[in-house]
Amino acid sequence: MECLLCDSPVSRPPTWKGLFTDRGKSRLCPRCEEGFVPAEGSPLLGDWDGTPYEGALDAAVSLYVYNDAMKNYLRQYKFLKDAALAGVFSDAIRQAPILKRRKAVPVPMHPERLSERTFPQVEEMLAFAGIPFVPLLEKTTARNLGKMGREERRASEPLFCLAENAEVRQADYVLVDDLYTTGTTLHHAAHVLKNSGARSVAALTLIRA
Ligand SMILES: [Zn+2]
Repeated sequence: MECLLCDSPVSRPPTWKGLFTDRGKSRLCPRCEEGFVPAEGSPLLGDWDGTPYEGALDAAVSLYVYNDAMKNYLRQYKFLKDAALAGVFSDAIRQAPILKRRKAVPVPMHPERLSERTFPQVEEMLAFAGIPFVPLLEKTTARNLGKMGREERRASEPLFCLAENAEVRQADYVLVDDLYTTGTTLHHAAHVLKNSGARSVAALTLIRA
């Protein structure tokens, strides 16, 4: 087998168990794997106090920092569009404690990145990791958030609405997204779920920038 990112050979001793458990699992060499650095701490949700989005998110966790290894991964993902690359982080996602006892809700493709699409489709990553999810949200705008100033972003019109036939229960949800930068996207998404009756809304992102 070859490493998905650098093509160097990956030796994994064949086992009977592996025949079944490794199926559909993406493989990286140890050197590439070590390049991904776990993010420590949590995004500062207090930044949103005093705005209409205060308290929308109850917790947030990011798995990795945005470093050279991650940039390289995203670049390859963009060029190869290889479904297997969506599975690189399957184990890490599956093991995230924040997913336990919460219903996963993928954040729909961001207005911010519609033109670039350099990031893995969140639904694809969840499917690869074998995590059930409910697509409750739809995006409402194609405006480019990246070009808005901080205050403008906070005051902007809602970015998401409930998907058709979506049923939000009095349950605990976790929004899943690729990137946490300013938190605008996730706060907007959480706000919609909270207003529709969600008991709590957390967020899990692959990367924190
Ligand atoms: Zn490699």
